[in-house]
Amino acid sequence: MAGGKGTRISSIASDIPKPMINIEGKPVLEREIECLRDQGFKDYIITVSHLAEHITNYFGDGSDLGVKIEYFVENTPLGNAGALFKLREKLDDDFLLLNADSIFDVDFNRFVEYHRKKGGLVTLFTHPNSHPYDSGVLIVDESGSVETWLTKEDIRPQWYRNRVNAGLHVINPTVLDKICIDSQKIGTLDCDGKIIKVDLDRQILKPLCGTGKMFCYDSPEYVKDMGTPERYEAVCADYHKGIVRAKNLKNKQKAVFIDRDGTVNKYVGFLRNIDDFELLPGVTEAIKKINKSGYLAIVVTNQPVIARGEVTYKELQEIHDKMETLLGIDGAYLDAIYFCPHHPHKGYEGEIPELKMECDCRKPKPGMLLKAANDFNIDLTHSWMIGDGEIDIKAGKAAGCKTALIGESDYMQDVTVHSIEEFVNLL
Ligand SMILES: [Zn+2]
Repeated sequence: MAGGKGTRISSIASDIPKPMINIEGKPVLEREIECLRDQGFKDYIITVSHLAEHITNYFGDGSDLGVKIEYFVENTPLGNAGALFKLREKLDDDFLLLNADSIFDVDFNRFVEYHRKKGGLVTLFTHPNSHPYDSGVLIVDESGSVETWLTKEDIRPQWYRNRVNAGLHVINPTVLDKICIDSQKIGTLDCDGKIIKVDLDRQILKPLCGTGKMFCYDSPEYVKDMGTPERYEAVCADYHKGIVRAKNLKNKQKAVFIDRDGTVNKYVGFLRNIDDFELLPGVTEAIKKINKSGYLAIVVTNQPVIARGEVTYKELQEIHDKMETLLGIDGAYLDAIYFCPHHPHKGYEGEIPELKMECDCRKPKPGMLLKAANDFNIDLTHSWMIGDGEIDIKAGKAAGCKTALIGESDYMQDVTVHSIEEFVNLL
């Protein structure tokens, strides 16, 4: 979708369409096509409208790049999904629908594989961002299917997960047939004299909420829009530093694994009441630095309160939503949260017997770190574990990570600091 006007960055590019803006000397659209081509995606349809000839003249039929490009020129604005109906006959299988206004470097085969495994009609690429409070957020059920789509204008719960739609989709074309629209009429005038358009989010995707047919694919890979001059400058800087490419999950990742209680939030013993969850001073700034450093920020926490029957999974989710919301207010985010719900000692009132077990995930065991390493292709030897307890250091060492202790004791940690803030300056 390369038809956007991009008026907010007209100070950088008023005479070229947004996808032709240069990043380190090459149009962003060319970088996107190269990323896709190198992963085996060879057939493109580019929808163009605003200053279309800049794009069509530059890319031609795609042969210079080793791909096949067709264009769909919108002389009348059809909405961002109108073209799909006009192109319906050409869409005979799952296809990627991508917003050409953003810069991305993503393992698309992994994304498509997830879509196929879930078997839905649509899969949305979702990620945490540094401004969830003014972004739309998605709420999913345990299976990953989207229950609620909150736009930035909607009233949202007090605490919510930082999960934002990045504008990359895998779509099964039959979803278009479920929409009651006469494709011939798109682009013509309705009885009030307005052009009939189709909006992707409002008319096609949002109605799939709660049907079990639309899933989120959570990924920490690099996808950022360049909607303002500041964001454009930030993207160029990240590109220059190699961060955009490095975050593609085909490449080995590095992470900072972060303990929760006593490291991120004030230690209150077993945290059972969401009102007791309070971020420690300096944590937001520290996690922001991790976010900018190219390391993933991943919380790993033992939560035996679940096995003890003192906190339900739903309540723990709310506590974690609170953590994400509070961090998000000041622009920090977590790439993932892992928790161990187990506890080894049986025989207490109110406990959940099936969670009373010796597991592989309860720190000092390294199970959560190993699972994260598998999920995100992490090189543990280039990663860190930071926490305030001996179990954190032991888990980190068992996983092969470097370790940092917040405190005074000697557990053979690599680094001793007073806070996570002090630690991130060492990255
Ligand atoms: Zn466990």
